[in-house]
Amino acid sequence: MTREYLKKASLTPKSDATETHEIVKGILDDIEAGGDAKAMEYAAKFDQYEGNVLLTPEEIEAACALVPERLKADIRFSHDNVRRFAELQKSTVSDVETELLPGFVTGQKAIPVDAAGCYVPGGRYSHIASAIMTVTTAKVAGCKHITACSPPRPGVGVAPAIVYAAHICGADKIMAMGGVQGVAAMTFGLFGLPKANILVGPGNQFVAEAKRILFGRVGIDMIAGPTDSLILADKTADAHIVATDLVSQAEHGYNSPVWLVTDDRDLAEDVMARVPKLIDDLPDVNRDNAAAAWRDYAEVIVCSDREEMAACSDDYAPEHLTVQAEDLDWWLENLTCYGSLFLGEETTVSYGDKAAGTNHVLPTSRAASYTGGLSVHKYMKIVTWQRSTREGSKAVAEATARISRLEGMEGHARAADVRLEKYFPNETFD
Ligand code: NAD
Repeated sequence: MTREYLKKASLTPKSDATETHEIVKGILDDIEAGGDAKAMEYAAKFDQYEGNVLLTPEEIEAACALVPERLKADIRFSHDNVRRFAELQKSTVSDVETELLPGFVTGQKAIPVDAAGCYVPGGRYSHIASAIMTVTTAKVAGCKHITACSPPRPGVGVAPAIVYAAHICGADKIMAMGGVQGVAAMTFGLFGLPKANILVGPGNQFVAEAKRILFGRVGIDMIAGPTDSLILADKTADAHIVATDLVSQAEHGYNSPVWLVTDDRDLAEDVMARVPKLIDDLPDVNRDNAAAAWRDYAEVIVCSDREEMAACSDDYAPEHLTVQAEDLDWWLENLTCYGSLFLGEETTVSYGDKAAGTNHVLPTSRAASYTGGLSVHKYMKIVTWQRSTREGSKAVAEATARISRLEGMEGHARAADVRLEKYFPNETFD
């Protein structure tokens, strides 16, 4: 089994981690000490915004009125798909119980976290879909307080379509604040917000670092790096569609890797010839991102057969994985590491990113080797309980006392002893 690189990345995504850490830690400490006023100072500094932070009902209504009807319908279509998929996920979590021993019952409950803080990125692009993905899923999970926060544009505030999406998807509060200050406000409970129990949503390196630092005192969905995508294609694939799909994901950012893995050298060469032309055809910002991502981070790999293609893909553990090859069932059965899988030419990562229903907040930078993406389950705590009759607890108490004494934990042993003595006064236990 062989792998040959027709194109190899000259760079690998890495952040200037130490510098980012220092900046973010400083801002978090400052805001924790200085509260609302300090957060607003940072909003003025980074986003040149000095307007209202928590949107009033009138401001929400005014923003929604600015959104064209066609776009509103599209947002509702996407929301409906994401909601129904999240409801399916929720149906797979049930409260269960079992009588492990006669009279001794143990159980599991799924309890939604109380307050969710949803970060909706808005620096480079207006990520309407991120509002749909994070807020809808929190709502279906059953969170009681859902805050959506997004960076305001100077003098304008949060993009109206993001406000509309957050509002119809179920956000209780919408906050015009981005970056570290937005994350801090939700975590510390500024501006009258409930303190978030979990922070979710993608964002740039400052947002990701803030979540990483705060993890522990607050839950997080994941630490997201630059988005990445891999396409598996065989001789049946359409080179134009493969090339278009690669370019579509390279536009995310200058350091967003895209990878093509194939067992057909002719296809690989055809795709490589098409990509630069498709990139040239993009509007300015998108072109610059995609050109840099293709130049520095993209790879094209020719494998000997489909088994090697699958192994190669699992090694990359991509955030988005597309298969444009024969025998889709084989791929579905054999691939094991990906955030979200797109099977066949008739679907594409853009569908999942915007409107198809599966969540687009997904593990990057090989994290798909150990986790999936955002789901209803991330907003839920799976907790356990137990109760027993006196008779039912006897065997457990005896074993507990003996194990505790062997461990040297006399206090634990006595918690069992005291019950045995009370419930079974006429018996002796060793
Ligand atoms: P963003 O909302 O994440 O960040 C904007 C904020 O960054 C600003 O509000 C500002 O406060 C802060 N900031 C900017 N420069 C700063 C500095 N020097 N110091 C401190 N703070 C600073 O928007 P963005 O920058 O456009 O990034 C969005 C990210 O989200 C991208 O990396 C994109 O790929 C990612 N994304 C990922 C997914 C996914 O599901 N994986 C989906 C959508 C977006």
